[in-house]
Amino acid sequence: MVRELTHFIAGKPTAGTSGRFGDVYDPNTGRVQARVPLASRAEVEAVIADAEQAQPAWAAWNPQRRARVLLRFLQLVEQEKDELARLLSAEHGKTVADAHGDIQRGLEVVEFAAGIPHLLKGEFSDNAGTGIDVYSMRQPLGVVAGITPFNFPAMIPLWKAAPALACGNAFVLKPSERDPSVPLRLAELFLEAGLPPGVLNVVNGDKEAVDTLLEDPRVQALGFVGSTPVAQYVYATAAAHGKRAQCFGGAKNHLIVMPDADLDQAADALIGAGYGSAGERCMAISVAVPVGEATADALVAKLVERIGALKVGRSDDPAADFGPLVGADALARVRGYLDLGVEEGAELVVDGRDFRLAGHEDGYFLGASLFDRVTPGMRIYREEIFGPVLTVVRAADYEEALRLPSEHEFGNGVAIYTRDGDTARDFARRVNTGMVGVNVPIPVPIAYHTFGGWKRSAFGDLNQHGPDSIRFYTRTRTVTSRWPSGAKEGASFTIPTMG
Ligand code: NAD
Repeated sequence: MVRELTHFIAGKPTAGTSGRFGDVYDPNTGRVQARVPLASRAEVEAVIADAEQAQPAWAAWNPQRRARVLLRFLQLVEQEKDELARLLSAEHGKTVADAHGDIQRGLEVVEFAAGIPHLLKGEFSDNAGTGIDVYSMRQPLGVVAGITPFNFPAMIPLWKAAPALACGNAFVLKPSERDPSVPLRLAELFLEAGLPPGVLNVVNGDKEAVDTLLEDPRVQALGFVGSTPVAQYVYATAAAHGKRAQCFGGAKNHLIVMPDADLDQAADALIGAGYGSAGERCMAISVAVPVGEATADALVAKLVERIGALKVGRSDDPAADFGPLVGADALARVRGYLDLGVEEGAELVVDGRDFRLAGHEDGYFLGASLFDRVTPGMRIYREEIFGPVLTVVRAADYEEALRLPSEHEFGNGVAIYTRDGDTARDFARRVNTGMVGVNVPIPVPIAYHTFGGWKRSAFGDLNQHGPDSIRFYTRTRTVTSRWPSGAKEGASFTIPTMG
């Protein structure tokens, strides 16, 4: 039986009316498990109208009262975490344990946003001129939207929705059509937590829904996460329509292994960060850069040994290190890159192409693969593969290792493994990348700092979560006030100064 999913509009699950549907697969079996409605322009416009109506009353709640909704939401998710993690894993293909992490990293941003009474405090300058006070306040934008990718169906919707709602906006979420069930359930839980109907709507859809959100003048801002070409398209189109946008794209994250590093630690880090979630993380490490031939030889040997012990299995198998890829297209793309790497002359030291999980021949499984002697000119180095493939680029020295991520088109995350503080400090200050890990393979910043890459990994100047998210989802009003004597002085024809 194929389930038919809905939208979540005005506080209710709402059937789609466009007549268009997308298939939601079980990546373990390759079978369709649900149909998701793909909204028409008219449906999205109706959702925006609904959100616009609900927003002023929500913004009028005091921030502490809004925060209480977030606090209740945290409790509700906590109670239902296991079911949510299973649902997430069943549509995405990541292991249940990893799905728990997906939810948890989202909740941490909800916890951050629950501090909204403090975060929204404005600035005040007493007696900026004689009898003049200047103060600023941050006010919500109105209706804002989030467009999110398949690979973190709980975390990224929460990264966007929680600060946006806490600031007093109404939020329209357009989640990935590949795994929409968790975002839908999270919206229901927000309602149970006391969020007024219409303040958070989930509209499922594809390009038609996204284009409607981009073009409708009632949507004030858009947060996007996904692949770079779409991120750039969303950013450019939003700007052309006078909207604020922050758009996060693809990645090619390097991990530099210095000769003085603990090689066992570095190898473990590479295995977890390279193959966890089948490599379908924007912060996955996809390029290992050992410095010096001796380091490279030793590291590759350790990687090969560890890859041999990896267990690929169903996403609900507690013993599995990673599960299937999300879809048949993803499987074909990653296999294509493995074929391409061989053609390009890289050394395929471990070949995962022939992996089959017995009884699951139609699932989207791929074994872990390792390329050695990859060079910067190869497409398998330049492009994002987004699968369980680790590539090794050997660097002669530290400066070459520093240049590789710095000159790469993407600049999301990067890591260095070393025991030398001076090298680590120099690296962290000079590398041309947004997020840096020092002996930490996946440096996703904690909720009260901000997350964002550089170069073609991000478009827009404000990051996700942390203080930037509050700036993104609000606008500043600045008031200059003088009273009561100011009104009695008569007109002045020169620009006021504070002299
Ligand atoms: P995607 O670009 O295919 O889809 C992302 C969203 O955009 C989805 O909601 C989708 O429906 C919509 N979309 C797709 N094509 C569109 C089009 N032509 N016009 C308008 N909207 C469109 O990305 P994905 O495959 O879901 O996610 C994987 C990608 O996301 C990877 O590149 C990964 O690196 C990136 N990612 C980046 C970050 C980050 O913070 N930088 C985080 C997670 C994922």
